[in-house]
Amino acid sequence: MVFENPIVKKILEKYRAIWSISHALSLMSWDSETYMPREGVRDRAVARAELELLRQQLLLRPDLVELVELADSVESLNDYERGVMRVLKRMIRIAKALPPWLVAERAKVTQEAMIVWREAKAKNDFNAFKPYLERIFDLARKTADYLGWEKHPYDALLDLYEEGLRTEDVNRVLGYLKSELKHVINRVISEGKYPQKHPLEEVKYDVSKMEIVNRKVLELLGYPLGVRSRLDVSAHPFTIDMGIFDVRITTRYEGVDFKRTLMAVVHEFGHAIYQLQIDPALSYTPVSDGASLGVHEGQSRFWENIVGRSREFVEYIYPVLREHLDFAAKYTPEEIYYYFNTVKPSLIRVDADEVTYNMHIVLRADLEKMVLTGEVKVGDLPELWNNYMEELLGVKPSSHSEGVLQDIHWSMGSVGYFPTYTLGNIVAAMMRKTMMREFNLYEKIASGDFTSIREWQRGKIHKYGAVYAPKDLLKRSLGSEYRPEDLVEYLVEKYLK
Ligand code: MG
Repeated sequence: MVFENPIVKKILEKYRAIWSISHALSLMSWDSETYMPREGVRDRAVARAELELLRQQLLLRPDLVELVELADSVESLNDYERGVMRVLKRMIRIAKALPPWLVAERAKVTQEAMIVWREAKAKNDFNAFKPYLERIFDLARKTADYLGWEKHPYDALLDLYEEGLRTEDVNRVLGYLKSELKHVINRVISEGKYPQKHPLEEVKYDVSKMEIVNRKVLELLGYPLGVRSRLDVSAHPFTIDMGIFDVRITTRYEGVDFKRTLMAVVHEFGHAIYQLQIDPALSYTPVSDGASLGVHEGQSRFWENIVGRSREFVEYIYPVLREHLDFAAKYTPEEIYYYFNTVKPSLIRVDADEVTYNMHIVLRADLEKMVLTGEVKVGDLPELWNNYMEELLGVKPSSHSEGVLQDIHWSMGSVGYFPTYTLGNIVAAMMRKTMMREFNLYEKIASGDFTSIREWQRGKIHKYGAVYAPKDLLKRSLGSEYRPEDLVEYLVEKYLK
């Protein structure tokens, strides 16, 4: 048994109700994004808000809080029990720190802001969004103050998305990437081996045939379709879990440029396999989830970029592509490999390749940090964005829609979220490096032995769920905290050797 302490066991009994509400909310979210009729959103919004409130109330019930305080003084807890206590204390601390008026105000402002942002983006009208963005940064600053911080208000917000992440970590990691990637990008572009465009980007596919390809690739990877998981369609691909035995992913079909839907599937598979490989003994507890957003994104980027965009993977799935996509036979695996790996400094983050991607995060993190401290005003963001973009990637947006208005995150009140994407890329490269000390990853991919790779991930990362805080997990399983050096090393090896 992983949980033996009687107080912890009592806590976990009480936690089941909270878990059950989360389970219902996840199922409702999945339905909202996939099959719910459009007008269903009215009732769903009410039910969701009420359930979220109920979950919060259950978390702050005095009997639970007292038990948590009691267990905190017990010294003989094992790692699993300590993990439960760490996660619960953190949840309670955050819930207690934020006054109800702030939570309500945030909900109200972001709900309106998301609608205004969508329209402002469509009309290229920053001024329409500006007053909302000012409110959002103002609330973010207040949130940081209520949560408490010592060195930088950004610390408090980063920690909300990535436990223990500090501004100094972000500065170190992104500062390193900013200077190193500049050279890598310049060399990749000037060598011209990896193309900026590929004819396959224009080729249309039959959606029903593409769906077969996606399902076959998922089967090859070892995704338990229909048994413990599903593949559905949504406007934006995502992964959601109802628990360890029901994990679902989605993709989208644009009808053209098939790598987009395929790579979305491989990416979400990486998220899903993390949830699926958590130790079932952790079910219904606060640790039956990934360690953090960054570690989670590390799993998805590992499968998408390091596995999915490798030569060996393209060769391995080539027969499936040829069988179902009539145009695939016109291209060799080598040509498809270059199609999967075009490199082009571009304006839009979500379309960026793995070489240029992190520059988009450097830009966002630097800007949000400065707005938070008041060094920069919201009104100055569009121009700063455009100039910084030109400095980092040599391209300049000609509209706000392709610049400061492109991402949904700020309109949702998510300030401090972006760095987790880069942490994901770093964790993926760290896993690759650590794995390669034990076996040749690329030989495994070439022979379709994805089981060995999944099992390695299970043992090092997945099985622990959120038992260890992200930095501790990385130290324990991958040798140290975030190592951006591993990411640069991987990119140099793949693109420049
Ligand atoms: Mg992801």
